[in-house]
Parts: sequence; C-alpha cells; structure tokens
Amino acid sequence: MPKSLSILTTGIAALAFTSFAYAQRAPVIDPPEPAEIAGHVAKAKEIAGTNPLLSKMAAEGYWCMTPSHASALVGKYTSKPMTDPVPAVQYFDNLYLFGTGFVGMFVLKTSDGLIAWDALNNSAEMETIFEPGMKKFGLNPADIKLMIVTHGHYDHFGGAKYMQDKYKTPVALSASDWDLMAAAPARPDGTVPPKKDRVLIDGQKVTVGDTTVQVVITPGHTPGTVSSIVPVRDNGTTRLMAMWGGTAFPSTTAAVTNMRDSALKFRDAAKAAGAVGILNTHEFFYDLTARKNAQGSSPNNPLVIGAEATQKTMEIKAECLTGQIAWSKAMGK
Ligand SMILES: [Zn+2]
Repeated sequence: MPKSLSILTTGIAALAFTSFAYAQRAPVIDPPEPAEIAGHVAKAKEIAGTNPLLSKMAAEGYWCMTPSHASALVGKYTSKPMTDPVPAVQYFDNLYLFGTGFVGMFVLKTSDGLIAWDALNNSAEMETIFEPGMKKFGLNPADIKLMIVTHGHYDHFGGAKYMQDKYKTPVALSASDWDLMAAAPARPDGTVPPKKDRVLIDGQKVTVGDTTVQVVITPGHTPGTVSSIVPVRDNGTTRLMAMWGGTAFPSTTAAVTNMRDSALKFRDAAKAAGAVGILNTHEFFYDLTARKNAQGSSPNNPLVIGAEATQKTMEIKAECLTGQIAWSKAMGK
C-alpha cells in the first residue's frame, strides 16, 4: 500500500474509534458552503422561535456550525484545561455528575441501588474523580446495579473494566457497540474494554428498585449509541429527562444521516414519554453544569425546560444535521 494511502486508512480507522482525538490532530478546512446550508440554519432558528436557550443553540450551537468551527470546538474541549477534573455536581435530588470539563458520568439513585451512565476515560479517573466524588455525596460505587455505557468510545467506557474488576459492576451496551469496543485499537495508557456482559436492545425498559429507564438505540455517532429516557426527582417531583447518548459528528455521510434520523426518533421517544429536559455526558454541548450552577436560590431547576423545548432541541439538532449531511457530502465523505 502506498504510504499516503496507508496514512489515510489509519486516519479513517482512528476517526471511527476516537472521533474526538482525531478532531484535535487534523484541523478541518471548510469546503465552499453548500447552497442549502443557509436554509437549514434559518429553519433551525425558526423552530427555536423566541426561546433564548433554543435560539442560542440554533445560532451558536455545535450542530449548525461549519465543519471547521465544529472541529475547533471539540478540539478546545479535548485539550487542557477542559480535560482537568471539575467538581461533582448534583443535577437533581437523585442524579449526580462526575468528571472533567470534557466528559462526565451520571449516577442515579433508586430505592434499591444506583444506575450509572458511562465510565470516564480510564481507571485513574475512576480513582481520582469518580470515587472521591461519590464519597462526597455519601454514595457507594459498590451499590451500582447497572452501568450503561452510552457507546463504545474510550471516553465513555474507559473505567468500565475497573468497575467490573473492583465492584463486579454489571456493564451494558448495545450489541453493535460491544463489537465496536472489541475492535478498538489499544490505548497508550493501557485502558482496555470491559469484558462482554449485558446487551441492551431498542425500546428495552431497565428497572432498578423503584426506577425504570427506557433505552432508545440512536445510531449515528456510533452504530449502536444508547440514549435513555431517565426519571429523576426534582424537589420530590418525578420528571423524565431525555439523555442523548453520543454527540460529535461521525465520519461518513451515511452515519451523519443515521444521526439525523436518530435525533427525530429520540424526539418522538421524548414526546411519548413526556420528557422535560436534555442530558448528555458531554455536558458542555448543552451548558448543563453552567445552567445548573446558575440556579442560585431559585426552586426551579434550569435543566427542566419543558416538553416542547425538549422536543424542539432534537428538531433543531435534526435540522442542523441535515445541513451537516450537505457539508459531509461537500467534503467527499
Ligand atoms: Zn463518542
């Protein structure tokens, strides 16, 4: 194989498995803007209407950015100081986030143990960020009855093997992302995937204690990205939150198209469930922690945005992703 082709092939493999890391290494240059982009951006702003949060998302959010700006944003968050630990945050009465500025993991308290989503980058982060954070809130990692890994990228499953080894934590992914993880190249820090355990299927309801989570498989970011409809307690009231499983644009036009279709699928699931807010383990894409920390003494949790705004979030994302399909084609992907 000619050297240049070999490098290209390696680049594509790296992109498939670690899209964030790739974005850091290869600055993206925008092709000439496809004619339809302006229409999609205008439509996204129209969906947002006068809602300030949605308007900001349509005007400045990741999904409607040009490829170079989107890549630069991800590059910023995959570099220091954004990869440093941030204080653990309690989002709701029974939902906690632990992690760095770049990626976090959620823990939900039920009447009979805990459910976790994702496992940070590696064992070291579990020891230095997750375990002390849990202690701060009086939570015990041994009480995790199920760890849902949203998708098979290292920044989500990195500490899952540590949890299996130390706490015998049951770990669950979709079938296709178990395969994706198994095929992932070795990491310089020695991180390896967890041993194959539970397989999640589309529409599955997972119950721990008094809490039932609905799984929605949303292909795009990876072939089997897991999104979830999650019941949280907000000042004693149960509310449903829509947790999107994977965010950065995938590497092919076909996968971006899947992601757009999945955004609409998840909009429908959020609507059927009556979800009133969005969650994501890359919280910065939605300013989740900043919004929560700005709550002050108000009794109203800023992460609760209402059913309509929750559905519109996914509609704006889908509209912008339709634009990204055009960008992707223009870049020959
Ligand atoms: Zn990912």
